[in-house]
Amino acid sequence: MIIKRKKTREVRVGKVIIGNHSPVSLQSMTNTDTRDVKSTAAQIHRLEKAGCELVRVAVPDEKAARQISYIKNKINIPLIADIHFNHQLALIAMDQGADKIRINPGNIGDKKKIKEIIKKAQSCNIPIRIGVNSGSLEKDILNKYGKVEAEGLVESALRHISFFEDNGFFDMVISLKSSDVLTSIEAYTLLSKKCDYPLHLGITEAGTEFQGSIKSVLGIGSLLVNGIGDTLRVSLTAPPEKEIEVGKEILKILHLKEEGVDFVSCPTCGRCEVNLIPIACKIEKQLKCLDVKKPLKVAVMGCVVNGPGEAKEADIGIACGKKQGIVFKKGRQIKKVAENKIVSEFINEIKKMI
Ligand code: SF4
Repeated sequence: MIIKRKKTREVRVGKVIIGNHSPVSLQSMTNTDTRDVKSTAAQIHRLEKAGCELVRVAVPDEKAARQISYIKNKINIPLIADIHFNHQLALIAMDQGADKIRINPGNIGDKKKIKEIIKKAQSCNIPIRIGVNSGSLEKDILNKYGKVEAEGLVESALRHISFFEDNGFFDMVISLKSSDVLTSIEAYTLLSKKCDYPLHLGITEAGTEFQGSIKSVLGIGSLLVNGIGDTLRVSLTAPPEKEIEVGKEILKILHLKEEGVDFVSCPTCGRCEVNLIPIACKIEKQLKCLDVKKPLKVAVMGCVVNGPGEAKEADIGIACGKKQGIVFKKGRQIKKVAENKIVSEFINEIKKMI
């Protein structure tokens, strides 16, 4: 199956293009104090290394807004300023060279202030993400629907979009975030039928690494399968590099990004004659330390039932049997290794391939 992506408008954020069938880009957000340029730039470097393509920083006050240019000078990916409540911070961040700003017009409120932001973004020629969030929906919309509903999130987004368009601004990316996965899926699906602005996907406040990853895979993954979404952020209560790890995995599983390791391992059962769980975990962990750029399918299988078949289908695979494993490369058996050597020998064979 090939995912048919919905065509959206093109929005340029620094060197990254969002929308118009460009690859789905991965974002994250720093959790350092933005006023601390050194720590923030160091974290962004770690994110870049992990595969982050766009990074957002919180701008809680003027001092943080004024550090944008210094941070930008030290990093290699576009920088997005995240602004709430105070429109002056958006103006300063744009003057400081932010590549994009993210605002929730609902929590800025005053239309005159929003118009000032629009004018500044036009003069700086940068896009704005309108981030509608279930936690800050307008009161009249909440009253209309009684609670946070997908239709309410969409109504709020369309209201903001109309206001921006009426003021001659079209360089927008939209997000509709709820911590409820089904509400998010419904809201993004509805909005994608009503406008062609690129959509930034995410499940907000998704939780810690385990639960947040599951919610994000389900929410973001379901939308991407249906062709919806142009850029994404996995939100986790975890170091931001983890968000990129999960985001990359989502894109790889859906064949929206053909790079790196596709790791296949069997769940083990009563037929398994080696201690496969620690073997598979060690191989997977060591693979993360290797710089695998091209797509590489790796299979680690527990016995001869499905083992040789899966191992042969992978670029490199191992099918285990009685206290040993048989290594296959591109479908050909290349060697047998004893159980205690499986991890080291298998990793060595992978290193030879990359
Ligand atoms: S490959 Fe073998 S050990 Fe693994 S789940 Fe299948 S039958 Fe069980």
